[in-house]
Amino acid sequence: MAENTQKVVTRFAPSPTGFMHIGGVRTALFAYLWATKTGGTFILRIEDTDKAREVEGSIQQIQDSLKWLGIEWKYGPDKPGPFGSCIQSQRLDTYREAAQKLVDKGLAYPDPFTTEQIEEFRKKAEAEKRPFLFRDYRPETFEKWDGKQPLRFKTPEIKRYKWHDVVRGDLEAGEEALDDFILIKGDGYPTYNFAHIVDDLNMGVTHIFRGDEFISSTPRFLSLYDGLGITPPVFASLPPILRDDRTKKLGKRDGAKDILDYKSEGYLPEAMMNFLALIGWNPGGDKEIFSRDELVQAFVLEKIQKGGGAFNEEKLAWMNKEYISKISDEQFFEHAKPFIPAVLLEGKTPVKLDKIIPLLREKIHVFSEIPALFAPDGELAFALPSSAGAPAYEGKSLVWKGTDPSSIKSNLQKALELISAVAPENFTAENVKAAVWDFAAAIPKESGGKGAVLWPMRYALSGKEKSPDPFVLSEILGKEETLSRLTHALSLL
Ligand code: GLU
Repeated sequence: MAENTQKVVTRFAPSPTGFMHIGGVRTALFAYLWATKTGGTFILRIEDTDKAREVEGSIQQIQDSLKWLGIEWKYGPDKPGPFGSCIQSQRLDTYREAAQKLVDKGLAYPDPFTTEQIEEFRKKAEAEKRPFLFRDYRPETFEKWDGKQPLRFKTPEIKRYKWHDVVRGDLEAGEEALDDFILIKGDGYPTYNFAHIVDDLNMGVTHIFRGDEFISSTPRFLSLYDGLGITPPVFASLPPILRDDRTKKLGKRDGAKDILDYKSEGYLPEAMMNFLALIGWNPGGDKEIFSRDELVQAFVLEKIQKGGGAFNEEKLAWMNKEYISKISDEQFFEHAKPFIPAVLLEGKTPVKLDKIIPLLREKIHVFSEIPALFAPDGELAFALPSSAGAPAYEGKSLVWKGTDPSSIKSNLQKALELISAVAPENFTAENVKAAVWDFAAAIPKESGGKGAVLWPMRYALSGKEKSPDPFVLSEILGKEETLSRLTHALSLL
């Protein structure tokens, strides 16, 4: 078979008609994994022959999206290959030459009909309840093609086609699937049907990974391969990505958004690559976390699922958390930085930023969740100064259930003394805990137990009911700020 004797060449061939969504990137990833695994070549080809549908900036966006994920191409819009440009609009001569060869072989003819005539044929076929096929109207004799008329393929043989698809298995289609399709349009640009076949041939493509919406056109492609006298590449038609409930194809409302949005929301590219690879492909077994190299190792075409995989945003968040737990504090900080309030970054609060990092890491799945933690009612709100410079709350909030302000005041007074004795350079959560623990633990149950110390302490430090524990808070705030917040609390009791 082709893959044993030939070096594998795969390509991802998007049309620059908008942003890259999950489905497109997954196709690119599979083509990339297969090329990388086999020591082959991955090409990024831009199919921009439909100028009306082109969206400005898409070519850049496609490249940015793939680069973010670490999907690297050997040849692409920025790196021409030995075959020339990877942008179809810059390869018009190639298509014209290929078209001329077909004309010379009697396998293509200029379309002699006007749009009105074609419309009439269509209506007639409809009235007679038969499918409308151009080949039924193919003229006996053709004019010479001057390069300006639309050029049609003259399907050499009307027959039933059988072919193999590595994902879908053996497929076949009857004669009705064949027709004389347009090769070159009136505007001089080739159609997708023609251009991709010329390019795949020129670029030495051995495996076509693309969406399964092209299966119905495959008989036409096969008739063109026959006309050109070439062996078709291996087809791998990927099923669409489904919604999590598997009722429908994933649509924009279900999260089929621009892949770069995930970047700005703070997903890690490694997590996204891992997540995408497992949509509709599974190496078997329970393992879910795969590095890029492990994916490359494990990737086999036989494990691409026919049924299509579903997009599960919760799984993506879980996976992102797994990857977040593995990166260094420095890397974490780099990703977290855009989401951390400026006052903290600028050192305008007493909080020790490096002490906050483990807390953030523990709480988030995605970096964009960080701002909510610092919001006025968020758990880390204590890290930001209120207008008064310290958390604002009422004295009665300090009072633990079943106790009274005066006993709380004396407990807090004692705690303050004990904490004052901890050396500022050793002011860790552990040491602060050691300093107050015996005192707190000795408070009898009827006097509130250790809650009668820990609660007011926590409230004094955070001004909130929900926050990290008082020892962690002390370490984050540092000795000076801790003592000042406790002193302020005493003044409220
Ligand atoms: N340009 C086609 C598309 O964007 C690609 C199909 C293919 O990979 O052959 O849908």
